[in-house]
Amino acid sequence: MTLGEALAAARGQIDRLDARLLLQSATACSHADLLARPETPVIASAYAQFVDWVARRAAGEPLAYLVGEAEFRGRVFQVSPAVLIPRPETEVLIDLALDKLTGMVSPSVVDLGTGSGIVAVSLALECPAATVTAVDLSEAAMAVARNNAGRLRARVDFRAGDWFAPLAGEHFNLIVSNPPYVADGDPHLALNGLPFEPQMALTDGADGLDCIRCIVADAAAHLNPGGWLLFEHGYDQGEASRNLLTAAGFKAASTFPDLAGIDRVSGGHL
Ligand code: GLN
Repeated sequence: MTLGEALAAARGQIDRLDARLLLQSATACSHADLLARPETPVIASAYAQFVDWVARRAAGEPLAYLVGEAEFRGRVFQVSPAVLIPRPETEVLIDLALDKLTGMVSPSVVDLGTGSGIVAVSLALECPAATVTAVDLSEAAMAVARNNAGRLRARVDFRAGDWFAPLAGEHFNLIVSNPPYVADGDPHLALNGLPFEPQMALTDGADGLDCIRCIVADAAAHLNPGGWLLFEHGYDQGEASRNLLTAAGFKAASTFPDLAGIDRVSGGHL
């Protein structure tokens, strides 16, 4: 079996790009190796790994879980089924957070429900003046996040617990979160590989706003004067989010779109 033959064997079963990426990962070959030397033999164990991955990919398992990594903002993050796969729309949250952090001397930031750690790690690396804390309820998710922070050399202080529970008496300049916001029973949860992702990271098991209500209600008690709260949400949750922010005493409650023009992040300040 050669690289070229292995790739041909997957044809028709899964997407061509996915097949190439799985073969590269199974054989530790680069795209250039594949193009320049398709006649390179594939050892039996690597081919067996590739065949297993192709079958699982064909059954809907996300590519990121098979190869164990995903890219976000130009960095490679380790992922496992304990964490949500990074979504490009979460970059909006990062860009807005960096915008608020600009000009602060040594700001403190907390990322609630950090998952794989993409938000906390990106902010720590892109705003080196910031002190970054990250919270997650799932110990398994936090192990992934810790590993990502270590591999990418980001300084992040990790805490296990439920939203603000491990932050008693602490105050921050910025609170960010990408909480579970898909409503229970949303048909979207059955599509695009979502059944393979941790349901606790996707849905609150209620109307989709439960975690957002919880975060907005307790945020003011953990913000310094003038501090900001920014969180990601669903396409139809902008108005409800702004109303919650205003009711909790936040000023300038606003909603920002993602690159597809869909309402994606809301926030306000004290
Ligand atoms: N944006 C994700 C999705 O629709 C959901 C992410 C989340 O719940 N935080 O698949």
